[in-house]
Amino acid sequence: MKSVTGAVAAVAVAVLFARPVHGAPGGVFTRGPANCHAIALTFDLCPVKAAGGFDVPLVQFLIAHRIPATFFASGRWLAAHDGQIRELIDQPFFEIGTHGDAHAHLPRLTAAGQLAEIRGPVAALGAKYGVRATLFRPPYGEYNDVSLRMANVAGQSVVLYSVVSGDPDPKLSAARITEEVVRRARNGSVIIFHANGRGWHSSEVVPEVYQQLVVKRGFAAKTVTALKEGCGAR
Ligand SMILES: [Zn+2]
Repeated sequence: MKSVTGAVAAVAVAVLFARPVHGAPGGVFTRGPANCHAIALTFDLCPVKAAGGFDVPLVQFLIAHRIPATFFASGRWLAAHDGQIRELIDQPFFEIGTHGDAHAHLPRLTAAGQLAEIRGPVAALGAKYGVRATLFRPPYGEYNDVSLRMANVAGQSVVLYSVVSGDPDPKLSAARITEEVVRRARNGSVIIFHANGRGWHSSEVVPEVYQQLVVKRGFAAKTVTALKEGCGAR
């Protein structure tokens, strides 16, 4: 019996690690349809201790070209970036999701703790800015079955990604990140970057990725919501 349990545990671990990369188990959205010649550029706004915490050149590039994009704001980031979140909300081609209140590791929390972590920035966006957020990206991409239930209770869809840029890694060059993202992009890819100033080369990488995928190869840039709706307009 022990060996059977061990085998089951091994499979469970394999499934757990496969989650962010393959498919969309348990209602977690990771990519759009394979027949949709579009990508979603997504930007996490994790909390940052240092001053700033906002990639101005990156956001200005997106705004100047009116590029649809989806941002996932943490509660702590929101609390320190009133002007910046207003700027994002003002753009009709951007959408705002959330990224936990304190950027906690969800599986380490109780159900009530997870619910509070998920609800924090959703409530803040609603109360202070009149934004009804419905997309939630778990901090660190970590979640368990309780997280999925609590996200549902909070009226949130869980969104991960299918292409990881690795932009917070200071060892990766802009050229290397660009090359990998372009190489791995497919129809419906959801690509994760950071817009909190901790994507060290994001303001160089994103324009180049846009040039290569959208301008040269004809992918449409769409919001996560558009990809979730099949291959919607935005
Ligand atoms: Zn984060």
